[in-house]
Amino acid sequence: MQEAPFIGVARHRLVVDGAGVTTLAAFHTCTLSCKYCLNPHSLRNIEAAKVFSSMDLYEKVKIDELYFLATGGGICFGGGEPSLRYEFIREFRDICGPDWKLTIETALNVPKKNIEALLPVIDCWIVDIKDMNPEIYKSYTGKTNDQVMENLELLRGIQDKVKIRIPSIPEYNTKEDQDSSVAKLKEMGFSDFDIFNYRTEINKG
Ligand code: SF4
Repeated sequence: MQEAPFIGVARHRLVVDGAGVTTLAAFHTCTLSCKYCLNPHSLRNIEAAKVFSSMDLYEKVKIDELYFLATGGGICFGGGEPSLRYEFIREFRDICGPDWKLTIETALNVPKKNIEALLPVIDCWIVDIKDMNPEIYKSYTGKTNDQVMENLELLRGIQDKVKIRIPSIPEYNTKEDQDSSVAKLKEMGFSDFDIFNYRTEINKG
């Protein structure tokens, strides 16, 4: 059975992960080093993370099954980078069955095989794209976006399941850069966007 380290499990989330009541299961470990990481616990101190098997997680979250089924909700896998744990998530789908909605919040900067393995078991993809400009992306995350672009191609076939988050990142991109990312993604056929501002020490009001 697959096991993975988690930074937390949060019940009864509404709206943030899409329709329905959702439980967030957040994995430790990420492939990126974003300057304003929203979940820094996922990057360090793995000893403090709790290790669950896929069955442990199911036992922990099934208390809300009636809510999931009544509202069209389920589990949102976040992190960290949840697509690193694709085998765990596939096993979890086998355990929970087909009726729970499984959502993933991913930055897509993982090998193509991870995303291919998740396509059959994920209902809703929330993609944290950062910025489509490769130079901005690299200076903000420390990595190239080559794998992101490759994986976006895979998601073109299921655009109706994909929401793309496009942040304004203080000191890294501009409104024009954000607009340019939207335009490039529209050209690829995507249409559901969450355009928002990172709130950091720099732009806190
Ligand atoms: S992708 Fe998310 S978890 Fe990973 S470093 Fe960036 S903000 Fe943090």
